[in-house]
Amino acid sequence: MAEMEPIDREEFRQEARAWLKANFPPALTNVPGLLFQGDAHAAAANADYQLWRERMTDKGWGVPTWAPRYGGAGLTEAHGKIIGEELAAIGGFNPIRSYGTMMLGPTLLEYGDEAQKLEHLPFIASHERRWCQGFSEPGAGSDLAALQTKCIDMGDHWLVSGQKIWTSGADQADWCFVLVRTDTERKQGGISFLLVDMQSEGIEARPIVLISGSTHFCEVFFNDVKVPKGNLVGEVNQGWTIAKRLLQFERNSLSEVKADITPLAPLAHDYLGTDALGRIDSPDLRARLVRNAMRHEAYMATVRRLAAEAKNGGPSHGVSALKNLWSGIIQERAELLVEIMGADGLGWAGDPYSAAEKEATRAWLHSKAFSIYGGSYEVQNNITAKRTLGLPG
Ligand SMILES: Cc1cc2nc3c(=O)[nH]c(=O)nc-3n(C[C@H](O)[C@H](O)[C@H](O)COP(=O)(O)OP(=O)(O)OC[C@H]3O[C@@H](n4cnc5c(N)ncnc54)[C@H](O)[C@@H]3O)c2cc1C
Repeated sequence: MAEMEPIDREEFRQEARAWLKANFPPALTNVPGLLFQGDAHAAAANADYQLWRERMTDKGWGVPTWAPRYGGAGLTEAHGKIIGEELAAIGGFNPIRSYGTMMLGPTLLEYGDEAQKLEHLPFIASHERRWCQGFSEPGAGSDLAALQTKCIDMGDHWLVSGQKIWTSGADQADWCFVLVRTDTERKQGGISFLLVDMQSEGIEARPIVLISGSTHFCEVFFNDVKVPKGNLVGEVNQGWTIAKRLLQFERNSLSEVKADITPLAPLAHDYLGTDALGRIDSPDLRARLVRNAMRHEAYMATVRRLAAEAKNGGPSHGVSALKNLWSGIIQERAELLVEIMGADGLGWAGDPYSAAEKEATRAWLHSKAFSIYGGSYEVQNNITAKRTLGLPG
């Protein structure tokens, strides 16, 4: 589809604004979308969420740039950006956003065959099929290519045995994209990319219980699991190339522009009071709040520059640097928020703490994971050094 003319942009913005106003359920305003994307039970129980999901599915706006035959609306990136901006402006969220839209979908569009695209993309576009990511293993995290999950060609099917770990949402997922070893002689060159139905006999997802009592991820065991031949994406032993591309899509989605981030200064005014000049009553905190806001502005400018450079080629190695920048901003912000709230920012449960205070404590703890998942901070720096700066590996 051709790029949009400036006049089209304004027209489309008005159209998007009107449609969203008429269709986004007001009860979901400012409700974190992650609540439903990460939790199938919460999603199933919420009628407003289900209505919103159905409306966005019918419109194809959950994945606006995908072709209509795959469940999208066949629009350009520019249209998609406008929909995202208008959604953020009304405190809304994309009910379709998931591992399927952020990771597998874009990868299948590049590497899947037509049958795989038609079988899976429409169910991702309607968020009726939840996916999980079976990459990490007990002996293969940063050194992902050391993975050992075995996959044998049995003629009419694949036979998979092994163990994955830290698999987010595996206990609620319908399908899993899995990296398996099809050749033990070659490291990166012996990996393949499989799509596995989580209902297959021989799969067991054991939730890992965190110190908080909640569970986010699982250990997943594959005990002689039969997988149809047609579920291999790309060629045998091409999995490492496909996985690297998927990780670029993942890191890109983890570092998407968050223009709507809530400013912390008004909150600091409320909790800490003001000095005689009406400023937050702590010069040191003031300086750090300004630094965090400036880093956020600089980050957004860099995202825009990289997006313009990338044009239609999709994410590049530059997303590794972005992911680290974004992790740093979010972690610093979470620290500042807890500091502003003082002792109230340490609340976990019970009446003395407001919902926002309890959420701040959880966000602070969760922020630690930003520089681990999707590849750790050090691993991203290694990629930036090698691929972006051209330093010797
Ligand atoms: C919240 C969360 C969700 C996750 N979800 C998933 C998921 O859905 N699917 C999935 O497959 N995985 C998932 N992971 C796993 C994640 O991808 C790994 O934890 C991550 O890649 C790091 O691997 P590791 O834990 O084995 O640590 P290690 O690889 O053992 O690393 C330990 C430390 O050593 C450093 N290090 C390692 N190698 C180098 C090096 N060459 N140079 C410099 N430093 C190095 C690392 O940076 C890190 O600080 C998730 C992790 C978290 C925290």
